[in-house]
Amino acid sequence: MKLLEGKKALIFGLANKYSIAWGIAQAFHEHGAEVGVSYAIDRLERRARPLAESIGSTFIEQCDVTDDAQISATFAKAQAHFGTIDILVHAVAFAEQDDLQGAYYETSRAGFATSMDISVYSLVALTRAARPLMLENGGNILTLSYYGAEKVVPHYNVMGVAKAALEASVRYLAADVGKEGIRINAISAGPIKTLSAGGIAGFRKMLTYVEERAPLRRNVDQDEVARSALWLCSELGSGVTGEVVYVDAGYHILGMPEPAEKIE
Ligand code: NAD
Repeated sequence: MKLLEGKKALIFGLANKYSIAWGIAQAFHEHGAEVGVSYAIDRLERRARPLAESIGSTFIEQCDVTDDAQISATFAKAQAHFGTIDILVHAVAFAEQDDLQGAYYETSRAGFATSMDISVYSLVALTRAARPLMLENGGNILTLSYYGAEKVVPHYNVMGVAKAALEASVRYLAADVGKEGIRINAISAGPIKTLSAGGIAGFRKMLTYVEERAPLRRNVDQDEVARSALWLCSELGSGVTGEVVYVDAGYHILGMPEPAEKIE
């Protein structure tokens, strides 16, 4: 059964084949959606375009989410291309590398503002821009979070604070747009090796730590995140909004992880 037959989805945050956005784009395509994608800067087009074209995308647009004019232009093009859209995926985040190591109190004012702007405010701005395209049929908005929003994770620092604000934004936005038939949720994914994740000091250790202790004794991958994105953004998730759904092999339920088991 195809879950998104006839649906139109716009996905922000495609950088390369490791991106969570790419996992989601493929799953949506396999389930019958027409997928449009957006990448941040010209340099990324070389990787993003062939990927998008391989799933039949004909809407492939550059958009820096810190720029309101670029957001307006992208959604004007989306309206001309799709008419209405059913799904918006926000798989976008950024923090300066210096702010993903050392003490959180060393975070600069500029670094704090940048990570909040790109990783949090962009969801607000994209929701505002997507809303008119969803008013006719209702819609679904999905963002990506991480457990560092709730608990201290070494080196995640300012990004943890940004993810906390992102999850709160999901709740406020869900309350705003629910009466218009628009749902908005977050997936809190376990660590996955991607371009952004590579910027977090000690990321490899994080993967091993989770693999040794998570209830499922492994990490998750892009496809598993994508499958949850699929149910959340399809009729299967029709009663769910304002929620943070964990796709993390169960890691977040642990209060006191058991001692590590050696992974062969
Ligand atoms: P990724 O690097 O593939 O994706 C991040 C995307 O954000 C990139 O495409 C990048 O170009 C985009 N971006 C950065 N600044 C931008 C800007 N100014 N305008 C537009 N786009 C911009 O890495 P990913 O891991 O797939 O990240 C996707 C989302 O998943 C992020 O929100 C990330 O925090 C979240 N997440 C990742 C993990 C993980 O371990 N990889 C875990 C939980 C949540």
